[in-house]
Amino acid sequence: MSRVIGIDLGTTNCCVSVMEDGQVSVIPNTGGYKTTPSILGLTEAGKRLVGHLAKRQAVTNAKNTVFAAKRLIGRNFDSPQVQQLRELVAYKILEGPGGDARVELAGRVFTIQEIAALLLREMKRVAEEYLGEPVEQAVVTVPAYFNDTQRQTTRAAARIAGLEVLRLINEPTAAALSYGIGRGETEKVAVYDMGGGTFDITVLELSQGLLEVRATGGDTYLGGEDIDLAIVHHLMEAFEKSDGISLASDAMALQRLKDAAEKAKCDLSQVEVTEINLPFIAQDEAGQPLHLLHTLTREQIEGFAEELVENTREICRSVLADAGFEPGDIDQVLLVGGQTRMPLVQEVVTDIFGRAPYRGVNPDEVVAMGAAIQGSMLAENAEGPLLVDVTPLSLGIATFGGHFTRLIERNTTVPTSARETFTTTRDDQESVKICVLQGESEHSDDNDLLGEFALTGIRPGPKGTPAIQVTFDIDANGIVTVSARDTATDQAQSIQVSARAVLSSEEEAKLAAEFAAEGEVALRD
Ligand code: AMP
Repeated sequence: MSRVIGIDLGTTNCCVSVMEDGQVSVIPNTGGYKTTPSILGLTEAGKRLVGHLAKRQAVTNAKNTVFAAKRLIGRNFDSPQVQQLRELVAYKILEGPGGDARVELAGRVFTIQEIAALLLREMKRVAEEYLGEPVEQAVVTVPAYFNDTQRQTTRAAARIAGLEVLRLINEPTAAALSYGIGRGETEKVAVYDMGGGTFDITVLELSQGLLEVRATGGDTYLGGEDIDLAIVHHLMEAFEKSDGISLASDAMALQRLKDAAEKAKCDLSQVEVTEINLPFIAQDEAGQPLHLLHTLTREQIEGFAEELVENTREICRSVLADAGFEPGDIDQVLLVGGQTRMPLVQEVVTDIFGRAPYRGVNPDEVVAMGAAIQGSMLAENAEGPLLVDVTPLSLGIATFGGHFTRLIERNTTVPTSARETFTTTRDDQESVKICVLQGESEHSDDNDLLGEFALTGIRPGPKGTPAIQVTFDIDANGIVTVSARDTATDQAQSIQVSARAVLSSEEEAKLAAEFAAEGEVALRD
């Protein structure tokens, strides 16, 4: 039987790992790097590039290079997050037929599933080359705070890439598994995960044979990219002030600024002051070259990042409260995600939990390692702690008057199911529409619509008399199935909830066939 790999599909970087002879190892790509940029590019000639090669062409071919596509996963085009990103990236984001966000590269439209599938296939290829055998199964990680649509989109991407997902696990759970394996102590652990695009905080209890998530929370739109963009804005403003030229509509200049901003941000985790030097960034009216030279201090970028990092404090507080813990109850704090290397983040974390974070894990690799551990446990029915995870968001349906009626509260252990009986609001009503929602607002409109379906053929009767039983099931991957049944007629409808932004099964099958027909493409680092 082929081996099961663990893949961390990150906003900024991907990482793949495998268990070999009881040891977990991170697999380097052909360039020798243990992480691969989550970037897809199309050359002018239409050739696809993934990873470092795509990153290298980002400056000269910014319009045809997509980064941070994970921020678009499972989101509708008109969502504020997508609209915000559209303003800031050089590649074109457009609306798909189902209202989903898609990306246009060199005149070709890509769904977000396809982009994620190309990244996943690249990680599959890296693993196959290293192992010297085909790989067909994986455990893939997702931010704990991903909703159902985002999880389903990730799973669809893996299917397109030719990978069977044995389990989707939450990134912090994977990190805790990697940390906790073989420790044998009973500990309360907080995993603070700030990557390029998302923030998660998860509180778990580790004991012999059990890893139990007590509560999780986060923001799928808060991360290092936001700090980079704040730096880009600052640099653009400074340049406009000094040279009178706006760089906002120059795709190549924007990409250079973005790269320089990220590099400066990372440097400022080590040093107090750094120089940004971008020669020939623009031309003046006389056609003379203009150069951007700017000094940036750690204090300045801490100013840009402060609000963002402070926002995580409240999220941590609420997750600790949901878990029933005080900050002082936490025995260990794990840092995950590249952005946690920023000293300000570490200071705030130390302040929140009253203890310095644990330094023994590599924030870039620990998630993929946990996924590989879980993968080998699933494949071999091996001994290992039982993972008990939770659903990050409350689930329910829209009810009369625009209310949200919860059937499953957030932070309930999964798998789980819940059932409640509803009725009609009109006499002789023959059908009801069930709108499945995920979120925390009391108003249905403010929550995410996961999907909707109709239960028809209800036996006619005065309003309020039919009994319609609605059942929600969440499986171990966090995927939701909903069914509704008229108890008088036994008429039933059931759906695996799939929101508008998810590809139809025909679209997915077509893409999977295209990918399979392409076989191995030469995407080398
Ligand atoms: P991840 O999504 O976990 O790969 O995290 C990537 C994010 O971490 C990006 O926004 C990087 O710019 C950021 N990052 C990586 N290294 C550092 C560093 N040394 N200091 C600050 N941020 C970093």
